[in-house]
Amino acid sequence: MEFNDFFCIFLYMIASVFFIMGIKKLGKADTARKGNLMSSIGMGIAVISVLISQDVFDGGLVAYIIIILAIAAGSVIGFIWAKKVEMTGMPQLVALFNGFGGLSSMLVAISQYCAIRGGSYAVGTDAFTSITLGLTILIGAVAFTGSLIAWAKLAGLKMFKKNITIPGKNFINAGILATAVIGIILYCIAPEDVLGLVGILVTTLSSLALGVTLVITIGGGDMPVIISFLNALSGLAAAFAGFPIGNTVLIVSGCLVGASGVILTLIMCKAMNKSFASLLFKTAKKKASSAAEGEHKEPKAMSVEDAFLILEAAKSVVFVPGYGMAVAQAQHAVKELCDVLEENGCEVNFAIHPVAGRMPGHMNVLLAEANVPYEQLKTADEMNPQMPNTDIAIVIGANDVVNPAAINDESSPLYGMPIVNAYEARTVFVLKRGQGTGFSGIENPLFTMDNTVMIYGDAKQTVSQLVVEFEN
Ligand code: NDP
Repeated sequence: MEFNDFFCIFLYMIASVFFIMGIKKLGKADTARKGNLMSSIGMGIAVISVLISQDVFDGGLVAYIIIILAIAAGSVIGFIWAKKVEMTGMPQLVALFNGFGGLSSMLVAISQYCAIRGGSYAVGTDAFTSITLGLTILIGAVAFTGSLIAWAKLAGLKMFKKNITIPGKNFINAGILATAVIGIILYCIAPEDVLGLVGILVTTLSSLALGVTLVITIGGGDMPVIISFLNALSGLAAAFAGFPIGNTVLIVSGCLVGASGVILTLIMCKAMNKSFASLLFKTAKKKASSAAEGEHKEPKAMSVEDAFLILEAAKSVVFVPGYGMAVAQAQHAVKELCDVLEENGCEVNFAIHPVAGRMPGHMNVLLAEANVPYEQLKTADEMNPQMPNTDIAIVIGANDVVNPAAINDESSPLYGMPIVNAYEARTVFVLKRGQGTGFSGIENPLFTMDNTVMIYGDAKQTVSQLVVEFEN
């Protein structure tokens, strides 16, 4: 073994240790920043080790210049973008990063294929390498287009706002997947011939289409699960890409991302009371017509001053935060309200739904930033039994995660998703700006229930006004 190879393997090992330690530290909020930094350092070492490897030397100075320019361009764009993005835009950014991960794995595999067509003997054409090359294209392409659709849905692009259905979607998806697999088989039969080229084209195009048809019909409560699944796919694509190019650190990092993504997907499925298969294969039910929904009731609105009078007398309050709290950046005001309520002798808790907001742990991160004690952040499962004995549930910019249709309306697209049972509290305050629906785009019967009052306005302003009322 040459010194160069030995040195690269040594660097790969160091990079892998950084990845593993980084992922471990990402598991806790107080060490997460360190974990992110460690993983980035690991990636830096991995990139350097690839640059000093023999393959790149072979490309000469031009190859180095191209690579350094690409790294510089990617780093500058990524740095500026991540610095500029609002907290509410974070999930979209993460979805795009997932997609770009899938795209780069796909391009790596295609460039390896081009090397084979160009007669490079450095690239293997044995069955294992051919299969992994084909799978990299398949999985990477699905992760890419699937993530673009997820991004469009999260960004609220108009044409993706409504629940989209594809008649016979399971047959269509199965057909497209079968076509992609046939493409891989054709490629494996004759990697260096025209048949192989046809195979690569068929796999690439059908896989790109599969990402779209798979994700476009998914919405509402299933979105967070599909996003973590796409994250797992981008990791798996990277791991598979490591085989045809013989890069160990890519296999290790891809497996880490893929495995953690799969675990997160399964945890989310459990939290959402869904099987993974039902997420991918279930067909959306048609929503009941408004006639079937019964007579239309108007929500009751209340002023902040009147709401204060009720709140002042409350002995127990449960805050139910949602995406609107993130939009309003109301977490610090909520902490202030929490403090004045406690000073007033009231017991305060937070009920955090697993998919509240737009990314896993979104509410926990915001409330931790506002120094809300960890012990006060309870899960929906912990708080629901206490809800009937709660004087006031204050719903701050949450909608889907408190929608009772999820448990009592079989025709609802949210049906089956566990919710925070805010409707069971003696009184429910709903803080939102107007009649806007939540992410799923469906009406919420909680807003017209007898024990619910709406306090319209930006959540931060409303909560701050309530604090002022207490202080006067
Ligand atoms: P929703 O998206 O259901 O509802 C948010 C509500 O906040 C809206 O009804 C909106 O009403 C209100 N709002 C927006 N801005 C403000 C503001 N400035 N002040 C006060 N209210 C405001 O949020 P939930 O957290 O209840 O549900 C999360 C949804 O997102 C679920 O459907 C989930 O599946 C989905 N999702 C979650 C992900 C995750 O990982 N957590 C990822 C992807 C999707 P109005 O406009 O009237 O103010």
